[in-house]
Parts: sequence; C-alpha cells; structure tokens
Amino acid sequence: MKTVMKNAKRLFNLNTALIQTARDKAVEILKSFEENRKENNILRLKRISIRFDKRCYSFSKTTNVLTPYWLTLSLNRRERVSLPIIFGEKQKQRIEETFRGEWKFTTVEMVKRNGEWYAHFVLSKTVELPDEPETVIAIDRGEHNLAVAVAISKRNPEKPLKGQFWRGSEIKRIRGLYSHIRRKLQEKKLLKKVKELSGKERRKVNQQLHIIANQIVEYAKNFPKPTIVMEDLNGIRKNFKKSKNLNRRFHSLPFRKLQAIVEYKANLEGIDVSYLPKKEVKDTSKTCHRCGHVAQVKGRVYKCTNCGMEYDRDLNACINIAHRVMSSMGWRSREPREPADKEIGVKPTLNAGSSRLQSWSSSHTYPLSKRLG
Ligand SMILES: [Zn+2]
Repeated sequence: MKTVMKNAKRLFNLNTALIQTARDKAVEILKSFEENRKENNILRLKRISIRFDKRCYSFSKTTNVLTPYWLTLSLNRRERVSLPIIFGEKQKQRIEETFRGEWKFTTVEMVKRNGEWYAHFVLSKTVELPDEPETVIAIDRGEHNLAVAVAISKRNPEKPLKGQFWRGSEIKRIRGLYSHIRRKLQEKKLLKKVKELSGKERRKVNQQLHIIANQIVEYAKNFPKPTIVMEDLNGIRKNFKKSKNLNRRFHSLPFRKLQAIVEYKANLEGIDVSYLPKKEVKDTSKTCHRCGHVAQVKGRVYKCTNCGMEYDRDLNACINIAHRVMSSMGWRSREPREPADKEIGVKPTLNAGSSRLQSWSSSHTYPLSKRLG
C-alpha cells in the first residue's frame, strides 16, 4: 500500500488527501466487486466518480447572481477550481438545512453523466436512537410480495401484531415494460437508446422504492419504540443461481435497495435498523412460527402439519425473523410454544425443526450486526 501511495504521488501532482480518498474508493469498489462476483466476471466500471473529502473542498454561499452556491475543489497546492452548483428544489432545502447546522458536510463525489458534471454531497446527521426498544419490526422480502412487515411487542412476544404487505406490482410492471421496449430496440439495433433506457428504468423503480420505504417507516412509527430488523443480503448475487424460486430471485435485488432506503429514512426518524446475519435466517420460510416445525411449503399459505396452523406464507417467514431477533434479545424463550387447548392431539414433539432452532440459538451470543456502508 505504501508503495502505491508513493507511486501515485510521483505520477500525479495531487494532494495527498485526494490520493488517499482515491485509494479508499478503489478498495471499496474491489471489495464490493468480490462480494457480488459472478463467475468469470471482469471488473468494469460503468461510471467513475472522484471523491473529495473535507481537506480537499470548500463549499460556500455567495451573492453571485448565477447561483449562490459555489464549490471549490483543491487538486494540489497551486490548483483550485471553483464551480457553480445548481440545485433542484429538494436538494436546495437540504443544503440550506446544512448551512443552518442541521446536517454536516462530509464528502463530495464528482460524477460525469452524459457529458455533464454532477456533485453529490454526502451529508451526515447525528440522531438519537432509543436504547431500549419495545417493538421489533421485521421486514422481509417475500415469495409473493416485494416486502412484508410485522411488528411484535416485547410485552406479548408470542402474538404478532397486524402485518403489512407490499406487492411491488408497480415495479414488476415497470420492469416488464422496459424489458419489452429493450427487446424491440435491440431488434432494431438501437443500442444507444437501450443504454439511455436503463437509467430511466432505474429512476422509475427507485421512485417506487422510496414510496414503499416511506410506508414501511410509517408502519413502524405506529408502534411504541420500534426497532427495525432485516435479513443481511450482502453477497446475495453469489447465491443467485442456486435459488430455484423465480419470484424470490426477482424480488431480491430491489429489496436490497429498499433496505438501504428504509435504513436511511428510519434512522432519520430515530428508529434503529439492524441486520440478522444470513446464516441465522435459515429456514425462516419453512418453519412454523408457532411450533417450530420445519416443512416444505407450497402455495401461498403455510399449513403446519404438526400444529395445524395456517398462515400467510410470507408473513410466517417474517414472524420467524422477528422471533429469532427477539430470542437473541432475551425477549422470548427459545422453546417452541405449546399448542392451545383445541389443538391437543397434535402436541409438538421435539422434531428436527425445533432442535435445529435450538442449535441456532445456542451457537451465538448476539446475532444483530450493523452493516457498514
Ligand atoms: Zn406448527
């Protein structure tokens, strides 16, 4: 690493800080590439951006008539570039909030898109999160839904509160429509148009994800002292081919994006977000959330052959995620629950499913992990 820095300094007449951020960025890109690597894939950068940290830029409000916002980038001791910045209404609001001290400037990423330069300001805010949550909100991707949410209170850990579903049908429609147009353009060999299209599609999908994320955060806010938990989907592309289920595959990537938006929006509302490691999410869709029995599921309803419970399949899986987190927080015993009176005759025995659940809970101490970045 040291020689890389030395060489870079020799080759480019740039600030040490700028070379450092470039190195950090390269490491980040390489890491995320390795994590999401598909077989025989070559690292290709679709877009290059330059990161400036606090040491290399200043941003100020002036009385200039063109635009009051000016960004000055320092490349080395002698060279500085001042650039006028024009914001959209929403961004302007945020920037004004930052000038008032509600946010902090961290880094600026300069990106070139369609021949024009864009400045992405990365802002940060310190929010206070309640240290003792009272409600666990599990958010899961489903077989038949883009996302499912369920809330479970500390006071009554065995009784899930009303769940909510997001079908994601608008996203499905957008993607279907664009794949149709893309095919047509490819037939006509209009490849440049195909490229433009993907940006449009992404923006439309993102817009939908923002709407859903807002609704998820609103859902969470209905409950006292909520904390959100989701499955850690890092490295999901690796297992992509293994997954036989098309629906789940279809939903996985937008769901991952959704997680990032939910995390950001929830944190702004003072709601903590944590991720349940993948290995601890095992069998959540096959396990009966009431008795712990594990079975194959077909169709939309989970029918437990052990205790007779019938439940929406996606909601059942989501409840299992919440339960696993709650067990690790000590809110809930790890024993499968006894069936209610009317279910006598199908009393659960310690089957393969529940013993697996046991080994899951004994094999770790605290499964919640913060995902970085
Ligand atoms: Zn059951």
